Amino acid sequence: MSSQGPQSEVDIETVFSQRGLPYTRQRRAIWEQFSTACRAATIGEIAEAVRAEGIGQATVYRTVTLLHDLGLLVRVRDRGGEVCYTAVRIGHTHPLICGVCRRIVNFDGDGDLAYLEKQLERETGFVVYGHHLEVYGVCADCREQGCG
Ligand SMILES: [Zn+2]
Ligand SMILES: [Zn+2]
Repeated sequence: MSSQGPQSEVDIETVFSQRGLPYTRQRRAIWEQFSTACRAATIGEIAEAVRAEGIGQATVYRTVTLLHDLGLLVRVRDRGGEVCYTAVRIGHTHPLICGVCRRIVNFDGDGDLAYLEKQLERETGFVVYGHHLEVYGVCADCREQGCG
């Protein structure tokens, strides 16, 4: 097994092949933009980054939507309300997002909401099986520059 821990990349080729979807050159190029990034990116920014490889904005839009539907990307917003995306990591992790520079820190979420989930089960009679969580803040660099 890999020892890279929670920051390792999702095995995207397996995800695609399990669903019978071709993992094309374009999809690979677009996924690499997200999987190697330390900041969340807008569709426009990704389109700009892959334009030299002959990939158009419509393909980027469709691919980002597909990656999001497959659970490989999380949709987040920066402080200006701009919609951007960040790659999901292996295991139970959640992204902490700087709303100013969109830097992402993925943190280990094991047991994070256990107390709340138990309480909700007691109060509502639901059986809870999961949650989505994104945490927003302003990173130390941005605070130093007076953006916080
Ligand atoms: Zn920041
Ligand atoms: Zn969690």
